[in-house]
Amino acid sequence: MISMETYDLRGCNEEALIQVCQELGLKRFRAAQLFQWVQQKAVRSWSEISNIGKEDRSVLSAHLQLHPLERIKEQRSADGTRKYLFRLHDGEMIECVLMDYVREQSRDRHTVCVSTQVGCAVGCAFCATGMEGFRRNLTMGEILGQVLDITYFVRQEDPEFQVTNVVFMGMGEPLLNYEQVLQAIMLMNHERGLNIGMRRMTVSTSGVVPRILQLAKDNPQVGLAVSLHAADDTTRSQLVPMNRKYPLAQLMESCREYSRITHRRITFEVALTADNANQTQAEAFVRLLKGQLGHVNLIPVNPVAGTGLERPDLEKLKKFAHVLEVGGISVSWREEKGTDIDAACGQLRRQWRVGNNEPIDSI
Ligand code: SAH
Ligand code: SF4
Repeated sequence: MISMETYDLRGCNEEALIQVCQELGLKRFRAAQLFQWVQQKAVRSWSEISNIGKEDRSVLSAHLQLHPLERIKEQRSADGTRKYLFRLHDGEMIECVLMDYVREQSRDRHTVCVSTQVGCAVGCAFCATGMEGFRRNLTMGEILGQVLDITYFVRQEDPEFQVTNVVFMGMGEPLLNYEQVLQAIMLMNHERGLNIGMRRMTVSTSGVVPRILQLAKDNPQVGLAVSLHAADDTTRSQLVPMNRKYPLAQLMESCREYSRITHRRITFEVALTADNANQTQAEAFVRLLKGQLGHVNLIPVNPVAGTGLERPDLEKLKKFAHVLEVGGISVSWREEKGTDIDAACGQLRRQWRVGNNEPIDSI
């Protein structure tokens, strides 16, 4: 009798599956078959794995657990954006968004915004996820599972569907769940799996300085986005409490080092509120970012109940962007997707729990 641990099937690479098959006395090629079913065809149950016999499947399933995410809710926006509320096998809930960019000149882009933690310990002032505190880290299988399950659901309508890009901008701070995030990236990149290019994945961080430096060394190809939001320490510490631990001077130093090692442009995210979208902040950003290899992405803040923060009007936004441009900084506005469906992560989960009378901190 073999006494083996059980593994999360979605978190297994091919080598791990080969080892399991060997230990179970199964043919080695079963591992490659299994990997393809799970990572490429995105199956959600053992019964869908049709070219592995029932007997072998039952031996395998005793050691490899398949936990598809339960779709609690799916909202579709007028622009095609879909937002999912998923339940994990222990009852916790996460959100995930699919954004489609249909393009004439090149192939369409289908971007999934994944969560990396249930809740978040950082507690930024404008963020619905942060308001509810930290629950737990997601495993690599759960991170990757979001992309797999969305692929599966969309393929029911469009069999050719393929996710092309992944952004780690859902719930949680990816660099505080570093190992699982890094492993998930490697597996999503696998050519016999989801086959998503390293350069098509972007990790967004509130500024965990030591991990930014580590990421540059461990995976110099993946994209980095830094949530700056303010250009002086006083304002930034209020908006992004991570700044109290790693203030701007340290953060910008790590960004310079990141660019030196990777030669990649960092995306600096700046959420603008009616308060901070002013000339003084814009000029402070110009001074802060002078000479840095990067690009600023302006995001009008998505108002979350209880934060008291409001969106700036269009005039203020334009003025802000203009000051940066004149200062020689490359600027874009985040193409707003799904604003009619509460696409700011954390909002859907919060509303669902309130709407279903679930105490916010009891699940
Ligand atoms: N924890 C990481 C990644 C998840 S948040 C980070 O903070 O970067 C992804 C992005 O959404 C961050 O730039 C975050 O600041 C921004 N964000 C969160 N809530 C928002 C809101 N209500 N309006 C606009 N942007 C928001
Ligand atoms: Fe956490 Fe990012 Fe939300 Fe801040 S913005 S609370 S770091 S998820």
